[in-house]
Amino acid sequence: MEYTLENIQNFKGKYPKQLWYLFLTEMWERFCFYGMRGVLAIFMVSQLSLTDKESNLKYGAIQAFVYAFTFIGGIFADKILGFKKSLFFGGVVMIAGNLIIAFSPQDLFYFGITLSIIGTGFFKPNISSMVGELYKEDDPRRDAGFGLFYSGINIGALLGGAICVYLGKYHSWSLAFLAAAIVMIIGLITFAFTKKTLGPIGDSPLLHLTDAKRKSREMMVYAGSLLSIPLILVMVKNTAYTDMFMYTIGPVAIIYFLFELVKLKTAADKSKLIAAFLFIAFSILFWAFFEQSGGSLSLFAANNLSDKLLFFNIDPNIVNNTSNSLFVILFSPLLGLLWIGMNKRKLEPNTVIKFGLGFLFLSAAFYVFYYTRFFADSNGVTSLNIFALAYLVITLGELCLSPIGLSIITKLSPKHLSGMMMGLWFLGSAYGQYVAGILGAGMSTPNDDASKVEKLMAYTDGYKQLAIYALVCGLILILISSLMKKLMHGVK
Ligand code: GLN
Repeated sequence: MEYTLENIQNFKGKYPKQLWYLFLTEMWERFCFYGMRGVLAIFMVSQLSLTDKESNLKYGAIQAFVYAFTFIGGIFADKILGFKKSLFFGGVVMIAGNLIIAFSPQDLFYFGITLSIIGTGFFKPNISSMVGELYKEDDPRRDAGFGLFYSGINIGALLGGAICVYLGKYHSWSLAFLAAAIVMIIGLITFAFTKKTLGPIGDSPLLHLTDAKRKSREMMVYAGSLLSIPLILVMVKNTAYTDMFMYTIGPVAIIYFLFELVKLKTAADKSKLIAAFLFIAFSILFWAFFEQSGGSLSLFAANNLSDKLLFFNIDPNIVNNTSNSLFVILFSPLLGLLWIGMNKRKLEPNTVIKFGLGFLFLSAAFYVFYYTRFFADSNGVTSLNIFALAYLVITLGELCLSPIGLSIITKLSPKHLSGMMMGLWFLGSAYGQYVAGILGAGMSTPNDDASKVEKLMAYTDGYKQLAIYALVCGLILILISSLMKKLMHGVK
């Protein structure tokens, strides 16, 4: 069969076959990414002799950088490389980053991480953009497709997080980073063997130029990215620069966004792009609350939770680190099928309402986190079952917002800006992570030797506040849904 756009988008059944290939490629990439992410904090404390506080700050900085670079990776894909080449380049740089660390973990760590940051920037937004292009603009199966893709993300995240941490802690750090590199190689091989099925999707936007001209521009992007390594390295090494970077990249991104916005020809395209921007703005709030999982909730798990889950004993931090991914893997395809089923009966909520629901679940989840205080014993230790239940609820919220967000960005963005917009979506995540750290720090007790009961009260008070704010956000979204619908010009 010839892979024209028409043929690809006219697929039969629930999912296009290309989605499975992108699913696998992204799964391996997320294994590599979450493997690296999972070992970061422990590695920096045990191998680089950072204090807990320094390690936390640096962890946050690295996360923020990784997601911030997706904006840059998205723009270069739109303008010069196209998604396929961008993804390939990003993957190769990620492999190099992990191999370099594996070679000499203590000496080359920051250098390798810098490459991982650049590589993820070129890889991450562009694979999601390609998923979007598998669908016609009004295909109701798109959200379900992103739901399935999102399961792939989480299978990779779960395996990578578990296996790399295990290898690093119990065997050697070199092996952990080597595993991440090998898995990324598998991802790229998967992509290389299946990319012809994508037909024109993700091809260079410069096909109208001569080969020589196009190649020279591509080379400039590759060279420019590699030349920027020393600058990024300095920023990663010095946490103080992270604040400066975060204060700069946001305004720069907004100015660039406005510059592209005014260049659009039709009012409908402009207003759709504004709607996409508003979704991104709400997503920042969502992630700021949600990402407590890596920060305050993991401290809460370490201090205030029993180790009894249903009928067995388990370390509460394992529950904190894995339950979200597990619930995503289980529920994401189901929710996708629910959306398709509801669509057939004309009952499917539109994206604004799904986002609103995302916040309502988020609010309910934080209320449950707050509610754990009523199950605490006199030592301030409370129920792991209730905590896990809160994770189930927060995951339902994530599924109403995160895959749906990827999907709506691909629907609302004109084709020539979809990489940039997807990058902006992930830049929203970068800010979310950043704000999450600030919120978490605000919730903690001022002194480290506070009793467990005091810590329980401090954190659960914070969670109650978050529940209220999330509820307000959800209600605002539902209230402004008709305005948003107007901006979206018929896109649901
Ligand atoms: N967990 C998802 C992923 O890794 C979403 C991340 C995010 O946007 N913060 O792709």
